[in-house]
Amino acid sequence: MDSSKFKVKTGENLFKDILFVKHKELERVSEHSVYRSSCLVCKTGILPVCRDQKTFELIPDDNCLLCGQRYHYTDFESMP
Ligand SMILES: [Zn+2]
Repeated sequence: MDSSKFKVKTGENLFKDILFVKHKELERVSEHSVYRSSCLVCKTGILPVCRDQKTFELIPDDNCLLCGQRYHYTDFESMP
């Protein structure tokens, strides 16, 4: 069994290059979640998808809550 995925350090990928991904191709955390996806890098962290606090519009940039990996959604315009 691969136990390495349980050894992710919080924020360890925070300063790595931004990953450009399609949100629709990410794996959702659960079938009930429209936005929350699993992190491609650490596999255990969550990408929450954020909204602008003033306009409530979706923000195309995201962070893994665990490893800190930064993402940019290239299909942001077509996100639900
Ligand atoms: Zn992660």
